[in-house]
Amino acid sequence: MANGWHFFMNPGPTNIPDRILRAMDHATMDFTGAQFKAISDECFAGLQRVFKTKQPILGYAATGHGAWEAALVNLFSPGDKVLIVESGYFSINWGLRAEAFGLGVETLPNDWRRTADPAKLEARLREDKNHEIKAVLAVHNETSTGVAHPVEAMRKAIDAAGHPALFCVDVISSLGSFDFRMDEWGVDVVVVGSQKGLMLPTGMAFTGVSAKAIAACAVATLPRVYWDWRRLLGGAAQGYWNGTVPVHFFYGLREALRLLDEEGLDNVFARHHLLAEATRRAVRTWRQNDGPEMFCSDPAGHSDSVTAVLLPEGYDADAMRQVCLDKFNVSLGGGLGNLKGRMFRIGHLGDLNEAMVLGSLAAIEMALDLTGVPHGKGGVISAMEYLTTGA
Ligand code: PLP
Repeated sequence: MANGWHFFMNPGPTNIPDRILRAMDHATMDFTGAQFKAISDECFAGLQRVFKTKQPILGYAATGHGAWEAALVNLFSPGDKVLIVESGYFSINWGLRAEAFGLGVETLPNDWRRTADPAKLEARLREDKNHEIKAVLAVHNETSTGVAHPVEAMRKAIDAAGHPALFCVDVISSLGSFDFRMDEWGVDVVVVGSQKGLMLPTGMAFTGVSAKAIAACAVATLPRVYWDWRRLLGGAAQGYWNGTVPVHFFYGLREALRLLDEEGLDNVFARHHLLAEATRRAVRTWRQNDGPEMFCSDPAGHSDSVTAVLLPEGYDADAMRQVCLDKFNVSLGGGLGNLKGRMFRIGHLGDLNEAMVLGSLAAIEMALDLTGVPHGKGGVISAMEYLTTGA
């Protein structure tokens, strides 16, 4: 039996604010009527502000995996080649899905602990004289590593190479947490899910599509029905949604967008930065005595939504996470793929404040103690000092 609040510090799904839960506690309404249309119009307009785009945004009842797949089947034909910018577990998995659909997948290799190098991307695209690469696929914030990648610089690299590839970006754990600009950064396809910065339950996903992406969709030949952007864009009888609309999600989404608007996106980003930096201060203190270290070894890549922490060799991160959960009711993310058991991940995105982060850091520090992981003492104090002095 656990008393008090459960501190949920996974990097997605995230805490759902009470206002969103209450907004979803509402009778069903006819999704074909005018009353619902006003709600969905407000939602898509709000999403455009968060994506920073004037271009269409499409929605599905799906998780991020569905939106990944939607991007692949709408843009490509069997045998088309895509270039994945390697960043970690999620970039690799997007690529594996592309392979499953018969696409040629090339990976632009990159050290998972560092930001991707736009110069390498430019050089590879320059080599591709016949423009065989149809698209560059990248993950803005690699949730498995806590490294944020330079999307704007990647766009500039594609332009500098004079290459016509589409630019598709997964913003699943960055949107609504730190800056992303679909139009200004020339992103053709943006993929996001509901359960992270948007603070909703898991189960809805969205895609922003540029005119260039819509043109590619018209000539692509991979089969698609549910994911078909042409239907969602209103080309067929059904516009904007395929099947029964999950109206409760829209009640929640409307409230989420109102919350983001009321706080102001810039303030939302500043809050995420503050909480992320406080977390990093704690980890740096723990690093003393050969303790745990930030997985991201590149200061330019520190993510403001998730911090991945690597345990010293020989210590079991999952055992430490279990103590954190069982004894202190604090839930952390684990390592994914090869990193399983090697790291824990602190999600500091969505509906969080200083006290929630400090409480969680305190629980982690106690769990490190209890599981005998060497570490420097006083990580929480370093975080508090940063939060009070800003220095
Ligand atoms: N891409 C990134 C960067 C993610 O963090 C995740 C999930 O955490 C996914 C893709 C997959 O999304 P979903 O779990 O919603 O299918």
